[in-house]
Amino acid sequence: MGKIMIIGAGGVANVAAHKCAQNSEVFEEMVIASRTLSKCEAIKSAVMAKGTKTRVKTAPVDADKTAELTALLEKEKPAVVLNLALPYQDLSIMEACLAARTHYVDTANYEPPQLAKFEYKWQWAYRERFFDAGITALLGSGFDPGVTGVFCAYAQKHHFDEINYIDILDANAGDHGYPFATNFNPEINIREVSAKGSYWQEGRWIETEPMEIKRVYDFPEIGLKDMYLLHHEELESLAVNIFGIRRIRFFMTFGQSYLTHLKCLENVGMTSITPIEYEGKLIVPLQFLKAVLPDPSSLGPRTRGKTNIGCIFQGIKDGRPKTYYLYNVCDHQECYREVGSQAISYTTGVPAMIGAMLVMTGKWRRPGVFNMEEFDPDPFMEELNRRGLPWKEDFSPLLVD
Ligand code: NDP
Repeated sequence: MGKIMIIGAGGVANVAAHKCAQNSEVFEEMVIASRTLSKCEAIKSAVMAKGTKTRVKTAPVDADKTAELTALLEKEKPAVVLNLALPYQDLSIMEACLAARTHYVDTANYEPPQLAKFEYKWQWAYRERFFDAGITALLGSGFDPGVTGVFCAYAQKHHFDEINYIDILDANAGDHGYPFATNFNPEINIREVSAKGSYWQEGRWIETEPMEIKRVYDFPEIGLKDMYLLHHEELESLAVNIFGIRRIRFFMTFGQSYLTHLKCLENVGMTSITPIEYEGKLIVPLQFLKAVLPDPSSLGPRTRGKTNIGCIFQGIKDGRPKTYYLYNVCDHQECYREVGSQAISYTTGVPAMIGAMLVMTGKWRRPGVFNMEEFDPDPFMEELNRRGLPWKEDFSPLLVD
């Protein structure tokens, strides 16, 4: 069918590259392009070692530099760019895709480096330009955001006349044996969890202090876990795109050791993104912290346990109240055996490949900029079952108060 360019060579890119290579009828050719060429080469070797018909190439690129990336796109001519670098690169990569008329898929919304605030407004501002160029930008094709948006669209299409309440629950019961480590990019992860929380209710945002709202939930196949309300990017698009919605919240589980370490690091200033001068050089404390923490892509062999991520819906069907829970359970060690990564990278990399596949095959292709729930969920739901993230449903789930 065609050629994909993956940008970035971290944990998520590793999984997506393996999954594209397992799907060589769609992805005949793949270019892995990132800032550090040796990381692209390492992914290529791992993918080739498993055996694939996909032709794999690597290239160095600094995706902050639109002209440099545009030149690479014009040389390689991929049909789709899968952006698995960091949220900071989203806009420069979208600019390059516009210049080279290439479809665009990512997994995280744009965040300005100097401001710990993620919002869709910067990427939604590209709607008209993508429409005029006749190309598709698919935003947030990971798990959350990503599959959570597809779950919402599926519930809306098949199970409800209107959905009034959505709770997105993200549980990680994996144990990597370190007192403190993050499961994906530490800088992005810590910016997310140390920010104020918020949820959407009756047409407006309600802000909370970081980790202010705690619940305990009994997760299928995992058991009881403490979870905390966070702001999360899909809340913003789902509040607009789901019919009848009155409240939408996002909860993530954290263990006590993680929270104690985070509080201590915050208290001593290590999570700050304001540069400080150290021995005549400006350094950002959070970036320094990232450098001393374990690399998330090294957690694969040590992480044991499961993740459970899903959405609980409450709404109306045929005039009656209805509840419905859609979720996926993923096992860290099974992921590691298959692609050499833990489940957090896996649950992001698989939907990233599926989103790119649906754009490549034309099933999810429309000129403009779109969130996941704006497309027909059915082909995505089928692929989740085929590609390693099968979903389960429960019609009388435990509700979150
Ligand atoms: P990593 O930090 O492991 O990898 C990021 C990669 O991007 C690195 O290879 C890095 O290169 C590369 N990169 C950074 N800056 C540039 C640049 N200017 N030009 C080219 N390449 C660059 O991150 P993860 O793999 O853990 O995460 C990837 C993305 O997935 C992130 O945006 C994250 O927010 C998102 N994510 C989404 C989830 C979801 O469910 N939607 C869940 C988890 C993650 P180098 O090594 O040289 O620094």
